[in-house]
Amino acid sequence: MLIVQKYGGTSLQDAGRLLRAAGRLTSLFRQGHQVVAVVSAQGQTTDEMIARAAQINPRPAKREMDAYLAAGEQMSAGLMAMAIGALGGSAVSMTGWQAGIRTDGCHGDARILEIDPQPILAELAKKRIAVVAGFQGVSPEGRITTLGRGGSDTTAAALAAALKADRCQIFTDVDGIYDRDPRRYADAQKYDRIGYGEMLRLIGHGAQVLHDRSVETARDAGITLEVLSALKDGPGTLVGPME
Ligand code: ADP
Ligand code: ASP
Ligand code: MG
Repeated sequence: MLIVQKYGGTSLQDAGRLLRAAGRLTSLFRQGHQVVAVVSAQGQTTDEMIARAAQINPRPAKREMDAYLAAGEQMSAGLMAMAIGALGGSAVSMTGWQAGIRTDGCHGDARILEIDPQPILAELAKKRIAVVAGFQGVSPEGRITTLGRGGSDTTAAALAAALKADRCQIFTDVDGIYDRDPRRYADAQKYDRIGYGEMLRLIGHGAQVLHDRSVETARDAGITLEVLSALKDGPGTLVGPME
């Protein structure tokens, strides 16, 4: 199978968590699967970078902000490839542009227009795990773009569609989708399965657990997203068509 696994910031926040994710990716690869990882910036990195930029220029040029913020994900990709190497696996890191992710030129909120699957397929054919920096692409002018806050989910869904992946798994710090934020409401109820429309409605009401465009991309491509905990094993929530 070709499997895309996305890891969010909290799931990569320190060496232990990064190595745990690397271990899951490596064992999947050793089971004979083709594995593509999509990684977010570690922990609160993006927030910290935004604060740092604000000290330098309160109104930075959007294209420079994108060049800067995309580096958070690029660092994660390099570290993840190193972590997989430390576990005896073989991986290669890729930025959005190296992975063929082409977007429009709307800096800070770019949309993915198309993905050339060849660069990633070439790495998979060399028996490597492809580790792609989430949240970014390249504009028609050749500039680095970012997809909006939380956009790594959309990178994963769009790659799953372009690569015709068998599974698209989104690993995060909660064990699935609930009817309300489970960190704020102890009585929140978990869904085993939720439809695209209902998921988009939850996001519209402020549930930032998935980037809205990831759900739209999955819906349009007919892909089911699996939302799972990176921190403990067990079933998550399937986001897909409702029969
Ligand atoms: P990641 O860094 O993995 O992308 P996010 O912080 O973007 O993670 O999303 C996960 C968070 O979404 C959870 O920690 C949780 O507090 C929050 N959240 C808000 N609403 C919901 C919901 N309805 N179901 C699950 N999680 C939710
Ligand atoms: N690092 C980016 C953010 O914090 C993208 C992501 O996490 O999906 O918004
Ligand atoms: Mg997120």
